[in-house]
Amino acid sequence: MPSTIHTLGFPRIGAQRELKFALEQYWRKEISLQALEATGAELRQRHWQAQRDAGLDLVTVGDFAFYDHMLNHIQWLGCEPARFGFDGAEADLLRAFAMARGVAQEDGAAEEGGTFALEMTKWFDTNYHYLVPEFHPDTRFAGQADRLLAEVEQAQALGHKVKVVLVGPLSFLWLGKEKQAGFDRFKLLDDLLGAYERILARLAERGVEWVQLDEPILGLDLPDAWRHAFERAYWQLARSAPRILLASYFSPLDDNLRMACQLPVAGLHVDAVRAPAELLRVADWLAAPHKVLSVGIVDGRNVWRTDLDAALARLREVAAKHKGELWLAPSCSLLHVPISLESEERLDPELRSWLAFAQEKLAELGLLRAALDLGGQLPAAQQSAWDSARAALQSRRSSTRVHREEVARRIVSSVPGDDQRASAFAVRQAAQRAHLKLPLLPSTTIGSFPQTPAIRAARAALRKRALTEEAYRTRMQEEIRDVVRRQEALGLDVLVHGEAERNDMVEYFGEQLDGYAFTANGWVQSYGSRCVKPPVIYGDVLRRAPMTVAWTQYAQSLTPRWMKGMLTGPVTMLQWSFVRDDQPRALTCEQIAWAIRDEVVDLEKAGIAIIQIDEPAFREGLPLRRAGWRSYLDQAARAFRISASGVRDETQIHTHMCYSEFNDILPDIAALDADVITIETSRSDMELLRGFGDFHYPNEIGPGVYDIHSPRVPEAQEMERLLRKAATVVPVERLWVNPDCGLKTRGWPETEAALSRMVQAAQRLRTELGGAAAGEREREPALIA
Ligand code: GLN
Ligand code: ZN
Repeated sequence: MPSTIHTLGFPRIGAQRELKFALEQYWRKEISLQALEATGAELRQRHWQAQRDAGLDLVTVGDFAFYDHMLNHIQWLGCEPARFGFDGAEADLLRAFAMARGVAQEDGAAEEGGTFALEMTKWFDTNYHYLVPEFHPDTRFAGQADRLLAEVEQAQALGHKVKVVLVGPLSFLWLGKEKQAGFDRFKLLDDLLGAYERILARLAERGVEWVQLDEPILGLDLPDAWRHAFERAYWQLARSAPRILLASYFSPLDDNLRMACQLPVAGLHVDAVRAPAELLRVADWLAAPHKVLSVGIVDGRNVWRTDLDAALARLREVAAKHKGELWLAPSCSLLHVPISLESEERLDPELRSWLAFAQEKLAELGLLRAALDLGGQLPAAQQSAWDSARAALQSRRSSTRVHREEVARRIVSSVPGDDQRASAFAVRQAAQRAHLKLPLLPSTTIGSFPQTPAIRAARAALRKRALTEEAYRTRMQEEIRDVVRRQEALGLDVLVHGEAERNDMVEYFGEQLDGYAFTANGWVQSYGSRCVKPPVIYGDVLRRAPMTVAWTQYAQSLTPRWMKGMLTGPVTMLQWSFVRDDQPRALTCEQIAWAIRDEVVDLEKAGIAIIQIDEPAFREGLPLRRAGWRSYLDQAARAFRISASGVRDETQIHTHMCYSEFNDILPDIAALDADVITIETSRSDMELLRGFGDFHYPNEIGPGVYDIHSPRVPEAQEMERLLRKAATVVPVERLWVNPDCGLKTRGWPETEAALSRMVQAAQRLRTELGGAAAGEREREPALIA
C-alpha cells in the first residue's frame, strides 16, 4: 500500500510576511477589509499549492488564521464572550480583532464595559501565543463554522483533496479559562461536543473525507476526569464525522498511549521526534489494521535537515509492525518554523545546506515516501536529492565550525565547584554591603531605556553603511551619556547604561558569539502580526572577545554611582533560538554559560561591581510533563550559576525574570543563588511576591512597583503602597525598588515621570521604615566617595 504524505499545518504569515503587513495596513486604515481578505485568500491558495507541488496527497485547510487559530475556533464554535457585546451584525473579522486587541475607549466603548482583549498565552512550549477562550456557566457553543466551510470550498474549487484541521474538543476546552470562581469548564463538554458534531457533519456533507483533530493535551499530565472523557467524546464524534485523524504532538503520550490508540477514530498521528521511543509501542497498540498511523518523522519544531537514512530505518521498523496504512508528516504543524530557505541567498552556503524550513521539510516527506514505498530504488532526481542530503549531514557532522576543541576541553575540565560562588550568600551580602554602601531600599531599573526612533535610525544607518562604526559608537556614547545624566538627576541608586546599542537581548549577544547564525528572513509568527526571527545555534559556542565591557566601562566612567553591567543569561539565549539537535540542549546551554561567565569576569576586572544576568525565559524551558521538570531545572540552574560564579564575593550578581509563574519553582529560583532578583509583580498587586515570602526566599528581591506596558504614570502613593505591601512579606533590608521590566518600549516623558515618583516612594519609605531596619543594616550615602 503506498504511503500518504501530509502536513499538520503550514506557516500562515507568508514568505514575505505578507499577512503581517496587510494586517498592519488594515489596522492603520490604509487598506480595506476586502483587501485584507484577498491577501488571506491568496496566501491560502499559495500555501495549498506549495503542498500540492511537494507531492502531498492532501492539503490542509483550517490552519490559516488572520490572527490566531484558537481565536478562529472561538468564532467557529460560537463562544465569543458576551462582554464584547457583539450584536452579530459586525463582520466576523472585526469581532475577531476586537477580541484579539481589545476595543479602545475612544471607539465609544463603555469605560468599564470589559472591552479589554482576550488574555494571550503561550501555545504549549512554543513561542507562539494563542488567545485564551473564556468560559462561564452560561457559555454556549452555537457555532456553524461558516468561515471554515468557505475555506474548504475555496480549496475544493482549486481542485485540492482536502483534509481539515481543527483543535480537538478536549484540548480546546483545556486551553480556555473559567471566568467565574468555582465554575469548572469541564461542565461545558457536552454542549461543546454538540457543536463539534454539527461542524463535522457539515464537513462530511461537503465531501471532506478526513478531519485532523489536534489533541496536544494528550502529551500532558491530565486529571483523570479529562483522560476518561476522551473515550466518551470520540465515541460521540465518530458518529457524525468524516474520518478522524487524531493528532498528538510536542510530548510523549505516556500514560495516555493505550487510550489514544484505542479510541474509535480512523487514524492516529504521533510525534516521532519528541517521543521516538513510543513509536513502536504505538504501532503495537494500534492493532486494528484499518487504522492509519501517521508518523511525525520530520522535526516541525526545528530548522535542521532530517537525517533521511535514520528516518527511513525507523519508518521501515514501523512499517514491518503496523499492518494498516502509514502516513508520513512533520512532527507537528510547521507554524513554528520559517517558510522557505529560498530567500536565504545571503546565508553561507555550507550552513544553508544543513537546514530545512517548512517547504524543504515537505520535500523531505516526498523523498522518505519514495524510499519507503520503492524499497530503495529511487528515480535519478530523487536519488541525487537524497545523496546531497546525506552529504550535507556528513559535512555538518565533521565540520570544524561545529566542533571546537577548545569548547569541549573547557567543559570536560570543569570541576564541581565551578557552579558555586566562593562563599555563601550571607558572607557575600556582608561583603557587598561593605563595598557598595547602598542605602536601604536601593532603587534601580531593569536595563533598557527608551529605544527612540533616532537610536533605531542610527542602527539602520550603520547596517546600510551610511554610518561608520566610529560614528555609530560616538552616537551611542552620546545616548549613554544622556541616560546617565537623567538617572543621576532622578536620584536612582544603581544606574544602567540603557542598552541603546542593542537591537534585541539575544541577537545582540548571538552576533558576537561563534556558533550562532542569523537568517535574513527566517520569520516565525509569535502572535497576530508579530513575528520573531530566532537565531540559529549551529555550533559550539565561543566568545571571541569581550562583548559589553567597553560600553559598560564607558558608562561607569561617567558617574560616581554604581553602573550595573547587563547580560542575557544562558537559558534565555538558548530558549529564544533554534538550537542544534546533534547534542543535548543542556550541553549547548552550558557552553553558552561559559561564554557569559567570561564576560562577567571581564566586567568585574573592568571595575563593574554589579552585574545583571537576565533570565526572563527561565520558566519557558520547562518540559510539558512534570516528570521532565527536575532534570531541566537542575541543568538550567547549573548553567546560570556557571555564568555567575566566576566573581569575588564583593561583586553583586543580579538576575531578572518576568511575566511568568514562579510559585511552583521557587526552590529552583533560589538555587540560582543570585544576590538580587528583580521580578515583575505590579500587575498582580504584589501577590506574586507572597510566594517568595512564604518560601522564605533567602536573597535580595526587587519586586516591580509599576507596570511598564502602560503609558500611564502611576502616583507615588500607589508605588509606596505596593512597597509597603512588599515589606510585609519580605524583610525591608532585603528589598530593592524597580519597575517590572525594561523600559525600551516606553517614551521618555512617561519614563522620567514614573521613575521620579518611584524614587520619591523609595525615599519616603526609606525614612519611614529605615528606623526599624537601621540596626540590621548600616546605611551610608549612595555615592561612592
Ligand atoms: N534587561 C532587559 C531590558 O531591560 C530585560 C528584558 C526582559 O526582561 N525581557 O530590556
Ligand atoms: Zn523583564
